[in-house]
Amino acid sequence: MRAIVRFLFLSILFIVPCAQAQSTMQLQTEDVALTFDAASSAPRLKELRATGQPAWFNRAAETLPDHVEINGQVTPITWRLLSNATKHTRHLVSYTYECTSPHLKLIWEWEARADFGPIEHRIRVENLGESDIWLPFQDSWKFDFSVQPGVQLSHFYVEKGADTPSPIGTHNVKLTEGYTWQGYSSTYAHPAEDEAREIIPWSLVQRNSPAQDGWYVGIEFSGRTRLAFNRRRNSLKGAAGLNPAPGPFRTKIPAGESFETPQVFLGGFHSGIDAASNVLRRWVRQVLTNPTTWADPRYPYLVNNSWGSGMAVDEALAHRMIEDSSDLQFEMFHIDAGWFRGVGDWYPNHEKFPHGMAAIADHAHRLGLKFGLWVDWTQAGLNTEKGSLNLRDPKVRDWLVADVPPDWEPEPFKGQTIDIGLPAAKNWAEEEVNRIVSDYHLDMIEHDGYLVAQGCDRSDHPHAPADPARTTIVRTSGAYFVHGPNSTDVSYHAVRAYYDIYARLRKSKPGLLFEICNDGGRMVDFGSASHGDYFSITDTYDPLSNRRAFYDTSFVLPAAMLETYVEKWPARSIENFRYMLRSGMMGWLTIMLDTTAWSAEQHDVAKQEFAIYKTKLRPLIRDAALFHISERPDGVRWDGMEYYDPTTGRGAVYAFRGSTETESSHTFRLKGLDPSRTYSLEFQDHSSENRVATGSVLMKAGLTVSLKQADSSELIFFAESPNKSKPTEGSTGQ
Ligand SMILES: [Zn+2]
Repeated sequence: MRAIVRFLFLSILFIVPCAQAQSTMQLQTEDVALTFDAASSAPRLKELRATGQPAWFNRAAETLPDHVEINGQVTPITWRLLSNATKHTRHLVSYTYECTSPHLKLIWEWEARADFGPIEHRIRVENLGESDIWLPFQDSWKFDFSVQPGVQLSHFYVEKGADTPSPIGTHNVKLTEGYTWQGYSSTYAHPAEDEAREIIPWSLVQRNSPAQDGWYVGIEFSGRTRLAFNRRRNSLKGAAGLNPAPGPFRTKIPAGESFETPQVFLGGFHSGIDAASNVLRRWVRQVLTNPTTWADPRYPYLVNNSWGSGMAVDEALAHRMIEDSSDLQFEMFHIDAGWFRGVGDWYPNHEKFPHGMAAIADHAHRLGLKFGLWVDWTQAGLNTEKGSLNLRDPKVRDWLVADVPPDWEPEPFKGQTIDIGLPAAKNWAEEEVNRIVSDYHLDMIEHDGYLVAQGCDRSDHPHAPADPARTTIVRTSGAYFVHGPNSTDVSYHAVRAYYDIYARLRKSKPGLLFEICNDGGRMVDFGSASHGDYFSITDTYDPLSNRRAFYDTSFVLPAAMLETYVEKWPARSIENFRYMLRSGMMGWLTIMLDTTAWSAEQHDVAKQEFAIYKTKLRPLIRDAALFHISERPDGVRWDGMEYYDPTTGRGAVYAFRGSTETESSHTFRLKGLDPSRTYSLEFQDHSSENRVATGSVLMKAGLTVSLKQADSSELIFFAESPNKSKPTEGSTGQ
């Protein structure tokens, strides 16, 4: 059915827009249509329309910069539309504005990179003059939608699972008159106790109508970004882009160079949040992520990681783990922190690894495993061996985001961050990362810690100089974090450098995988999704935290990219043990405990679960639609997730019973099925008899699961029967 809709839609699509006036143009996908116009001084997104739904009318023209600074002088800017430079193709709308003195060009662009999903937007300012200019703050996108006072709206957004998922995580709040909200994201989420947690930089606005329609916006950037909403009288105003606070923001555009706002995407949807999410995840996969990664059907790989032993890793442990990984049919062996000589000295510790790291990788490869390695490659320490990043070296000291006191010592795996926005620091880091990947025969590199600067107190780096009077420096877990008016610009340059390094490495080493960890879920965003292959989504690894982080993050990113580490957890029974494993089996599964310490029964059960993961769950995790079929997990009540792939007619329900002693069975209402079809249900652990049910029954009456123990689980697989059910059964459908 989807194919027919798509065909009809495409037939309509590209006939309409070109007949309109030259300054009004339209871009459209299966899910959203955007209409633009351009006045002589500024362009505007005029209208946003989710397919088949009422339009959102935007009253605000884009605010273009009205001045720049040259040699300390404020110089006003007058923009003029260059009509002959306007571009409109099937996938692109682009307006160009020019200022003759100083000579600047501004390109305002929207692009549909897929036939479905959202449309992307960016603004590029080119300095065509002879002098460096300083550009003031520029949002990626600003809006002022006309909204009638009586219209009921909701605002939906999710937090990062940074450190540990909060008790809320997923926010679905009424967007009523007077609503004012700002959400922030950065390269390293570490909000103070009284501060709101960082969000994954994305937000959705839904009209509370039967169609449950609306729009969403996301930011494809890992630096300091902000989303803002304000509803007042007939307006829903807001902005998306860089974070202007604490400001005033300014950034230098050297002569002949350009500045580009973080790319944002704007989508439309109907039928509620899971429907929007299912389109968004598919779009992120197709447009942002690396197709080479997805080409291997083993992605997301099943990984055994050494952090269960902490820093106490060595060759003997690695060999023992590799052999057990092979027996348990893992697909990657991953050495976490602890293998190196010291922070910033990314060479194997000779006492722990007398034969080096490549020998470990080769051993893993011989047993059919990929090999991944942890590294925090922008951290400087005190080691003095050749090749180490020593912060007492005057050259390295110039690269630091801030000096450290004379008595400073690095923590076991954390030092002080260098600012890779500085070309010399970037070059060192790039060479070092390339060396690590080549010398140690890596298939995967994990980056961790506070890697990408988001504040810097230096005044001779490419970013705006620090303002010492308004800059604070705070020590947080070994590193000194800088916060000041230039912070957003610091993060802008450092993030671009980080993206460059990984983009080039990905090109030179196709197939190399990138794990984005950043102390567990602190840099989860769409820019990182474009440059890495999977995210550690939280730094707390018990079953509840893993399920909570997955529940939140899976609204916006492909499930295959969402890694949960499974750590040692007090499993009193084998059912508890399965519950622990399965709580990490909804996306990318990494085991982070000593599997050789498992009992024979646990070993056997784990082997079975891993086989189920690879053969039955993974194809769904990669390709199926995902439905949140319960409230967010609280560890007490039941919670569940459903995958369903309409192309294969197959799906699965993960059912978790929390600590409740009283609720021994629970009914989940499934979503997304064909009400007129019959589905055969298979209970993996035989908690119930296998049976058949119609889509209608499963979605309305629901699927009841009974489990005898607290902290236990069941997997229910279902498959569409080849024939439609009898009309009497199907007639109760929607
Ligand atoms: Zn700097």
